[in-house]
Amino acid sequence: QAKELGRSRVAFYDWSIDAEKTDRKRLADELRDALATDALHVVYQPIYEAQSMRPALVEALLRWDHPRQGAVSPDLFINVAEENGLMDAVGDWVLRHACRDALQWPEIRLAINVSPVQFRNPGFDRNLAAILQETGFPAERLEVEMTETHLVTFPDRAQHIVASLRILGVSVALDDFGTGYSSIGYLRRFSFDKLKIDRSLVHGVSVDLETRRLCEATIGLGRALNLEVTAEGIESEADAEIMRQAGCSYLQGFAFARPMSAAAISELLNESAREADGSHALRMA
Ligand code: C2E
Ligand code: MG
Ligand code: MG
Ligand code: MG
Repeated sequence: QAKELGRSRVAFYDWSIDAEKTDRKRLADELRDALATDALHVVYQPIYEAQSMRPALVEALLRWDHPRQGAVSPDLFINVAEENGLMDAVGDWVLRHACRDALQWPEIRLAINVSPVQFRNPGFDRNLAAILQETGFPAERLEVEMTETHLVTFPDRAQHIVASLRILGVSVALDDFGTGYSSIGYLRRFSFDKLKIDRSLVHGVSVDLETRRLCEATIGLGRALNLEVTAEGIESEADAEIMRQAGCSYLQGFAFARPMSAAAISELLNESAREADGSHALRMA
């Protein structure tokens, strides 16, 4: 019996798991090199104030153009960084670069994604304060985006860090809401500033009634808890209008702008300032 089992185990051994492991190991080595040679870059996606449709924030999103594979999805390489002890270094790199870039956009705020691995580090808040100091970026203009993973795996630590970030003046958003536990208990326990509704929840909001009701209910939940609500993944003006009417404060999505270079953001902000001046002049006339 045991022999039988042993043999079947051999027969069913999945070699592709080994292959995948070596791939990820190699990817980790290459990511380490990319970090050392500054081969990563950050792009920014504008987030708009829903009523005025003026850009209010930009979200920093990390990019890696692999020498052979081309663009690697951040969902993959962030995971590889987390599993191979690279996340703290990658996270610091993004924060430093994004803060330096965002200094030239004093009219808007900067949102940064933080991995649970960074958050778990007891020195996380001190390290962040040091980078703010070093770059001269004002804490009040920084917003940290975290996911529920943080809360579930180490709630006490997370609660402590969220509190100390807010003492620094940094605001905290709960990202990807609607994909994980979406626990009301956690929302009450942590003092977040903002809720970001995941794009998977928003998808189809202007064509499907049930999706629309679900989004409206989620926005209602956020507002009941005194949170600002951002909807991600707005892909059409119809989506935007529904979320606006439902009381969403901020909108983000391909309908308005894709993630873009720092130079393109500067241009977009200039454009938007000109438009605002133009409409002001019209009202005055
Ligand atoms: P996220 O933080 O939820 O970021 C939003 C993602 O949605 C981005 O994908 C963005 O390009 C995409 N997106 C925005 N609007 C639309 C839309 O209208 N339609 C569609 N289909 N997609 C839209 P991206 O850049 O591929 O990033 C994926 C995830 O990787 C991020 O999700 C975040 O969790 C992670 N990530 C990216 N950069 C960083 C980073 O610097 N640090 C950490 N820890 N994670 C990062
Ligand atoms: Mg995010
Ligand atoms: Mg998100
Ligand atoms: Mg997401």
